[in-house]
Parts: sequence; structure tokens; C-alpha cells
Amino acid sequence: MPSDVVTRFAPSPTGFLHLGHAYSALFSENLAKMSDGIFLVRFEDIDRDRCSPDFERAIIDDLSWLNLKWHGQIRRQSDHMVDYTNAVNKLKRLKLLYPCTLSRKELSEALSAPHPDTLLPQNHNTLVDTDKHISNQETQRRLRSGAPYALRLRMKSAIKMTGRMTWHDTEAGIQTAEPEIFGDIVIARKDIPTSYHLSVTVDDAIQGITTVTRGDDLFGATHVQRLLQELLELPTPNYCHHKIITDDTGKRLAKRNKANTLKSLRESGINREDILKSLDLNF
Ligand code: GLU
Repeated sequence: MPSDVVTRFAPSPTGFLHLGHAYSALFSENLAKMSDGIFLVRFEDIDRDRCSPDFERAIIDDLSWLNLKWHGQIRRQSDHMVDYTNAVNKLKRLKLLYPCTLSRKELSEALSAPHPDTLLPQNHNTLVDTDKHISNQETQRRLRSGAPYALRLRMKSAIKMTGRMTWHDTEAGIQTAEPEIFGDIVIARKDIPTSYHLSVTVDDAIQGITTVTRGDDLFGATHVQRLLQELLELPTPNYCHHKIITDDTGKRLAKRNKANTLKSLRESGINREDILKSLDLNF
């Protein structure tokens, strides 16, 4: 009988996987295996323009080549947009969302002129109350004329509603969530009626993920996802942010560098054992 532990590997099929993804997937599967739990794979493909079935196929080939065994069907986010719309509607009912029609250029101008009323610490790339950077009349005019708009979370109101939140990270211990450092995050994009943070949070809950394993580069994302869990009344999983695999010069591996892809490694005749060795894994 499997234990309650459920982990997942959630790649975006926007390119070929590299050694960093192999590490992440093996790490996640191993964590589930160690406690006789369940390992799932999810395709994070909300950005249809950047995703392709070829990349999905290559990911499946790579994972099979690594001898990874996932449970059941792969969940494809694009098949579940209604789940994200339900979550957006819940946040709307809480009166936490507002439309933002600002263009990239207007947003970057707004960033260089932070609003004096802000109660939140702002760093160089966060914004709060973006609607204060444009007149209400102009926003209404744009909306009436069918201009695209994103839905942003009113961060100040959201954190007032939730109070202090924590999460447990296996490596770093108990963490206090500080979503305010991200400002009024986008919940639904102009081009897609959801966002990375919203879809991940909803899916982790729907799939019953008990331990989110992912690279350290996504540590910050947990502050935001923890807030969304609280607002949407979803359970909080444990987190395990693992090290990032870098190249010989210490730089993060990138999907666009063809030489690093698992596809080119497997086509060059390297085998799974070589990969495990190069990643310093001895599963
Ligand atoms: N889809 C994300 C990526 O490929 C990972 C999301 C997550 O693990 O939360 O980077």
C-alpha cells in the first residue's frame, strides 16, 4: 500500500530538458520512492504559443530513458483551464483582483515612479496599486474599447486578510511567507486567463501533492504560492528546494543551449548511469 507522500515533476514543454531537469525529476521520484509514495508528472503548458507537442514527446522520451516511472496520466494544464477560472472567480469574490491595462512601457515608467502611498517595501521590479498610475477614466475607456488586461492581486488587502503565514522547507526549515516583496502579482495574464503562480498552486492542491520538490531558483515563488493557498483555502504542502545544476563555469543550464539537452546526450550514446554519476546521484 503506497504511503501518503506525493511528489511531482512539472516541466514546461517549451524546450528540451537538460541535466538540471534530469536532477529535478530524479530527485522528486526518489523522494517518493524512499517513502513508498507516488511520483507524478505534470505538463505546465498554459503558454500555448511557446509549448509544442514535439517538446512533450521529447520530455516523455527523456524521462523514460532515465527510467523514471510516474503514476497515471500526465496532467496537462491546458486541459484544466476551468480549474484556474474557478480560482480566479474565488479571488474576485474576495474583491482582491483588479484589471490592469498598462502596457510594458507604461509599467516600466510606473516602476521608476513608485507611488508615494505604498505601504509595501518595493524593490526594483515590483509594483503595487498599478491602477494608481492611470486614471480610472482611462482604464474604463480602454476596457470599453476591448483593450487586453491582466488581473492583478491587490497585495496589501490580501496580506491583511491572511495575517502571518509559514511553510516548511526541508533544507531551509520553517519559513515566513513574504509575498509582499512581489507586489501586485498577475493572477491572470493579458493573453491567458491564468498565470504560473495560480495554476501551480491550484494543481498542487488538486493533485494532492504533499511535497513540492523543485530547484532553488523557485524558492521565491513559494512566498506567493503560500499566499494563494491561504486565500483559496487550499492545503500547504512541504517544500524541498534543491540545488541548481550548473555548467563548468558555474552558470545555470539553459534550455536554449542545445549541447546540454538530454536528447542530445542520449543520442550521443551516454547512458543513465553516466548521467547519475555526473549528477552525483546514487539512486
Ligand atoms: N514549470 C516550472 C518550470 O519548468 C516548474 C514549476 C514548479 O515546479 O513549481 O520551471
